[in-house]
Amino acid sequence: MALSERVSVITGASQGIGEAIAIEISKEGAEVILVDIQEEKLQEVAQRIRSAKGSAFPYCADISSMEQVTEVAEKIIQNHKKIDHLVNNAGITRDNLLMRMNEEEWDAVLDVNLKGAFNFSKAVIRNMIANRYGRIVNISSVVGLMGNPGQTNYAASKAGVIGFSKSLAREVASRGITVNAVAPGYIATPMTENLPDSVKKAFLDFIPTKRFGTPDEVAHLVRFLLSDEAAYITGQVININGGLLM
Ligand code: NAP
Repeated sequence: MALSERVSVITGASQGIGEAIAIEISKEGAEVILVDIQEEKLQEVAQRIRSAKGSAFPYCADISSMEQVTEVAEKIIQNHKKIDHLVNNAGITRDNLLMRMNEEEWDAVLDVNLKGAFNFSKAVIRNMIANRYGRIVNISSVVGLMGNPGQTNYAASKAGVIGFSKSLAREVASRGITVNAVAPGYIATPMTENLPDSVKKAFLDFIPTKRFGTPDEVAHLVRFLLSDEAAYITGQVININGGLLM
């Protein structure tokens, strides 16, 4: 199978896009390391992957904590010998207009969405360099490219992820490591299901395909970026948004 013998770490893997990526690449034979903040949900996804004859290992960590990420990455390398793939997918929103946004809402989003990607990338990069192989995919957002009212914190974090990805891509390209950002548009997941119907309708009006994306569609793209066939793609932002931004 295409990803067999690869060790793949996916953060935010217990639901939504992260879960879809984990399931998709487990079907390709990867040894999937699921990282998320809630133990119970993680165990359920791991169990589901195993029932389908996949290989899944749950590790609980808050990715905004450098201490927890370093500890978990060390355990993963000890138990699985290496890390080939890292998908920095975990993310949160704390929406508010800037004039009402408090420091906690700003810090929480930047700490998970941007610092989380820094923490995990830093924790795995030496291992990838030593192995002269690696694939890092950072999940950004269309909002990081076009902005969105009420999401200055989220947009800043997702735009930051793009600059981070391009810079790291330049640092490690000569070591067989690619780093790319994926920028989804509106994808139907627990993160977006609670938006008011009026907001969902307003989005749909602007999406040329007239529908929201699915987590599986994002997972297919990520699976390709993790494959050996994607070796010459690095430092890119790949949009997957139904034409919302062209
Ligand atoms: P989701 O359904 O909310 O799933 C995110 C997962 O990350 C949850 O399991 C969450 O756990 C976990 N998580 C949150 N904070 C964490 C932390 N500090 N440490 C470890 N895990 C943590 O989100 P999604 O819609 O699948 O989104 C996945 C990624 O795609 C995010 O980066 C998001 O910004 C991005 N994205 C989503 C869309 C969309 O339309 N859905 C569009 C563009 C980009 P809890 O549930 O316990 O918080």
